[in-house]
Amino acid sequence: MSPNILRIAVPTPLARTFDYLAPSDAAALVPGLRVSVDFAGRRLTGVIDALASDSACPPEALKPVLAVLDDTPLLPPALLELARWAARYYQHPLGEVYAAMLPGALRHGRAAQDCITPGWRISAAGAQALAGGQLRASRQLTLLQTLAQAAGALDRATLRALHADYSAPLNALLKRGWVEEVAAAGPLRAVQAGPETNAEQQAAIDAVAAADGFGAFLLDGVTGSGKTEVYLRLIEATLARGRQALVLVPEIGLTPQLLARFRVRLSGRIAVLHSRLAAGERADDWLAAAEGRAEVVIGTRSAVFAPLARPGLIVVDEEHDASYKQQEGWRYSARDLAVVRARLERVPVLLGSATPSLETLANAQRGRYGWLKLTRRATGARAPQMELIDLRRQLLDEGLSRPLLQRVRTHLDAGGQVMLFLNRRGFAPALFCHACGWLAECPHCAARLTVHQRRRQLICHHCGHTQRLPHACPQCGAEELLGLGHGTERLEQALVRHFPDVGIARIDRDSTQRKGSLERLLDAVQCGDKRLLLGTQMLAKGHHFPAVTLVGIVDADQGLHSVDFRAAERLAQLVVQVAGRAGRAERPGSVVIQTHHPEHPLFATLLHADYARLAEALLAERRAAQLPPFAHQALLRAEDADAEAAQALLDQAAALADALAADGAVQCLGPVPAPMERRGGRWRMQLLFEAAQRSALHTLLERLLPEFTALPAARRVRWSLDVDPLDL
Ligand code: ADP
Ligand code: ZN
Ligand code: ZN
Repeated sequence: MSPNILRIAVPTPLARTFDYLAPSDAAALVPGLRVSVDFAGRRLTGVIDALASDSACPPEALKPVLAVLDDTPLLPPALLELARWAARYYQHPLGEVYAAMLPGALRHGRAAQDCITPGWRISAAGAQALAGGQLRASRQLTLLQTLAQAAGALDRATLRALHADYSAPLNALLKRGWVEEVAAAGPLRAVQAGPETNAEQQAAIDAVAAADGFGAFLLDGVTGSGKTEVYLRLIEATLARGRQALVLVPEIGLTPQLLARFRVRLSGRIAVLHSRLAAGERADDWLAAAEGRAEVVIGTRSAVFAPLARPGLIVVDEEHDASYKQQEGWRYSARDLAVVRARLERVPVLLGSATPSLETLANAQRGRYGWLKLTRRATGARAPQMELIDLRRQLLDEGLSRPLLQRVRTHLDAGGQVMLFLNRRGFAPALFCHACGWLAECPHCAARLTVHQRRRQLICHHCGHTQRLPHACPQCGAEELLGLGHGTERLEQALVRHFPDVGIARIDRDSTQRKGSLERLLDAVQCGDKRLLLGTQMLAKGHHFPAVTLVGIVDADQGLHSVDFRAAERLAQLVVQVAGRAGRAERPGSVVIQTHHPEHPLFATLLHADYARLAEALLAERRAAQLPPFAHQALLRAEDADAEAAQALLDQAAALADALAADGAVQCLGPVPAPMERRGGRWRMQLLFEAAQRSALHTLLERLLPEFTALPAARRVRWSLDVDPLDL
């Protein structure tokens, strides 16, 4: 019998495929094609996962698919394989996994052709006409000349920039057959050569280049050691072999600076994929990657799913960065999937960081990843001087100690730039009544509201709840409301007071909301207009500030008292990353850390900016405590307006798990309230599964999930499963 049954993965919470009949007139059907189906009365876009000749359903119960949406699959076989692997690993419905892999416009069934921005180039007839002088001076002539000079096709945006009124002459030229429409290529650019590589860089490049097919590598290099240069060389080599390179960067790492650096170095078309792009733009670049028209794909988390016609290399920059973990819906790790994908595509994958995650370090130590080290700053700049300021004996002005203010002054006077880091946006993290002790709390969360002075608002940073800043206490009426603690907005005010003549750039989520504002701030810093920079973790990543000679960490204690076992690792990464922003060029840098706990053992190692030694100590602690990467975890979360409903669902899950994993290979801990017990009006509970062997954990999850999802309560209460959770 011919395979006229299609197993369709439909984006629904049900973890299985659904059988439909193939349309009789359809041409070659293959897995990966999108189809439109009637699913319980709704028209949904699904993906053909497999073809079959029989079904468990009686033939008369099967519905035909409504339409086949593609001629060729959008997702190549390796990505279909990746989707199936991921659906199993994360215990997430395959249809939702496929949906997450597609850019928005295509997910909702738009025709791929409609998403491509066309480009235009001169035709052979057009070239002849031009040479033969068949056109007199006219707008058509100038446009044709422009197209003749361009080496590739030009897209609409480029044409508009060159000729404001290109539209009518273009249509006329198209009609005459002197111009033809093609899929757009990026404008040609001059390619600059990079610096000569040093011995360590060359060794790293050679090791990756020697990988025959799959190979995973950790590029463990201090900030400024030339990791990006290594990526660029390997990408150039990949392009030279006629293959494509995929580069993942953290959410905040995809800066205009980084893109500019790639653009001057690489000759091919660069597709850029990140969530802030309009759906159409995103789909266009995505298709350019799929069809092989873009040689380099650079993007954030979900770009790990960008299809490549000729894959050759995958790079994950700042692999330790938490933004690689998707924190809602399907909770995948893009870094981990990059490694799985590289294996499926048989290409090398390079994970780079100055502060590798303990998971990746453990893999390098076990010999699973090649371990490539860059130990020196490429420009010869010295490692920064580190200094602790003990806040216990200090008079503070808005969180700033006198020694810190003095050092800022000294560095500014010497002509340097200064960067202050505070990982808290807003004015103050709490509002408090001096008369009665009232605290402004979010009505929907177990959290305090943050004061945003400039906007005169109180905002919940967890659920977004916003209200006007009261001028009197709602409890006792007193007008003695005080902002407690410090955010970047408040620090900025204090700095303006201390350094009125110095331009100050505040860089955080609030100050960079408007499109282009981050670029403007960075430009003002680059050209020296602003010499005092102040910001949240947005500052810690990827930026080049060669004139910065002093970095101050205003409050290092935030990371010391957390219940999260990863807090020490994160603090260490942050301090080393921030320190790496100082003294990149010829001027030596200094780093000053303010803390109330200078005796904390973490600082002793950090003072030498010795991340490797610190990571070694942290790994030993994790091993002793049997925590990741020496154990494997999955977290089942439930939340509901009714606290008992959430608890009851997880109680049932725990009972199921106990029955299924009676051999004790998997520990089931909880349910317990989540660290933030209430959020957005819902009570949150969680149940932790932990095992020494990954296989034991996954065996349990594979058995547990079908039973768990079948529970009536699992349909009423909102829940999610997080495999390899980052936040417990
Ligand atoms: P990382 O990505 O490790 O932070 P980069 O690749 O950005 O480091 O390099 C830091 C600086 O050193 C950049 O200005 C870069 O141009 C320069 N650089 C990199 N490699 C070399 C080299 N081999 N010789 C001279 N300068 C280099
Ligand atoms: Zn009061
Ligand atoms: Zn809230």
